[in-house]
Amino acid sequence: MIAPATRRVAEANLPTRYGTFEMFVYDTADHKEHVALTIGAIDDGEPVLVRAHSECLTGDVFGSSRCDCGEQLADSLRLLQEEGRGVLLYLRQEGRGIGLANKISAYALQEQGLDTVQANLALGLPEDGRDYWMAAEMLLDLGVRRARLLTNNPAKVEGLERHGVEVVKRVPLRISPNPSNVGYLRTKREKMGHLFPMVATLEDALEGSA
Ligand SMILES: [Zn+2]
Repeated sequence: MIAPATRRVAEANLPTRYGTFEMFVYDTADHKEHVALTIGAIDDGEPVLVRAHSECLTGDVFGSSRCDCGEQLADSLRLLQEEGRGVLLYLRQEGRGIGLANKISAYALQEQGLDTVQANLALGLPEDGRDYWMAAEMLLDLGVRRARLLTNNPAKVEGLERHGVEVVKRVPLRISPNPSNVGYLRTKREKMGHLFPMVATLEDALEGSA
């Protein structure tokens, strides 16, 4: 059910380099300004292509090569535009929900050799503090009950389904390993259960960086 706390508070057209989206700002129970960008008719009951993207200032805005977020965001917007129909949710849960300062502190620990999970645990933080209830509530508000979810993360599929959105298909996103993010991608795969579409490519990159 849609909690009464989740409501649209603003909307307007947003022309972008990827095409023109409708942008909705939501007020939710956590009092963050979560965003939905939509394109095309999405409330006809047919499964809708959805990306639930968690905010990553360093990756999305600065083009950091410590993670693959910026690339996944750009790829998602491009795919939604190609399809002409879909939703990108931009969830304000920076650094897997631990916040920006904690994320940057964790980067400092990673420079001393810890991986992303070990660094969070060393700071007394959860390895992944994200939840997807607000994503499900925004989708339901937009009339989307069935999704084809753009993700390599099975936890997102489970998170949406637990809150009432059926994921009829998981659509993998491609990843491009580089020397800065290959350790991060390895940890995501080995410790956090992420599924990568081009495993052979990743393996080659891992070999190269070992
Ligand atoms: Zn990131």
